[in-house]
Amino acid sequence: SDVPDIELNNGTKIPQLGFGVFQIDPADTADAVTNALEVGYRHIDTAQMYGNEAEVGEAIAKSGIPRDELWITTKCNNSNHGYDDAQSALDESLQKMGLDHVDLYLIHWPLPGKDLYVETWKGFEQAQRDGRTRAIGVSNFQPHHLDRLLAETETVPAVNQIELHPHMQQAGLRSYHERHGIHTEAWSPIGQGKGLLDAPELAEIAQAHGKSAAQVVLRWHLQLGNIVFPKSSTAERMRENFDIFDFELTVAEMGRIEGMEKAERLGPDPDKFD
Ligand code: NAD
Repeated sequence: SDVPDIELNNGTKIPQLGFGVFQIDPADTADAVTNALEVGYRHIDTAQMYGNEAEVGEAIAKSGIPRDELWITTKCNNSNHGYDDAQSALDESLQKMGLDHVDLYLIHWPLPGKDLYVETWKGFEQAQRDGRTRAIGVSNFQPHHLDRLLAETETVPAVNQIELHPHMQQAGLRSYHERHGIHTEAWSPIGQGKGLLDAPELAEIAQAHGKSAAQVVLRWHLQLGNIVFPKSSTAERMRENFDIFDFELTVAEMGRIEGMEKAERLGPDPDKFD
């Protein structure tokens, strides 16, 4: 496939473009993932919180695609922080998906009010040593949360999965990640579709390349080095979002999109979310 692999800090290789299943109804998830695999996606991003891991596993089993050609990420739910609970939550996810390991396991939110993310991370290190996950990472961590993992544990997260799109570009976190060998995963990469994709800047750039606004934004992510997994329920858009390897944005176009920054979140502030 055209999708490049990105080598993470523990040597594992993740496809830079995947498919996300947040807010896909469990009843529709097996079909959506089956469609995505047919389009060519080999990286699926799910979470215990999404309630659709079993259906993701169903589609994987039905596909017949060899396990080592797939990259499966799931996330530890907020109710399962702690050294032991984080590990039993992973066992439960594996059982639901019918897998003996995932490729990437993430702490979904830091929950600073609970202050258990360091203990949770130590449970993740154990799960990785046991082979229940090939890589471990975090999501929605701010620099001061990452600072504590770096100071108090042995393992630098392979990724931090954060809200990132042209209206919320996260320059500070991206440079922190670069300094520490952490790869950036961008959630809601196309800003959930609404609003962002109507921006006139994107329409102009899209027209210049004969592409859509969504394809331009996804291409911007790839050129920044971000890992992305846009969500879609229709096969047509899944194909559109996958068809981003035959054009390149110019430096000027990249700069124009950089100018769209509004520091505007769609989701919660990680420091205020418990
Ligand atoms: P997204 O930016 O991927 O947007 C998806 C929405 O955009 C779709 O529901 C559809 O309405 C629209 N869309 C999709 N393709 C389009 C196209 N080609 N043209 C026009 N509109 C299109 O938003 P998302 O689903 O929130 O994020 C993607 C993935 O990121 C999720 O599925 C999930 O895996 C992950 N995520 C993680 C967190 C976290 O806290 N870690 C939070 C949110 C999302």
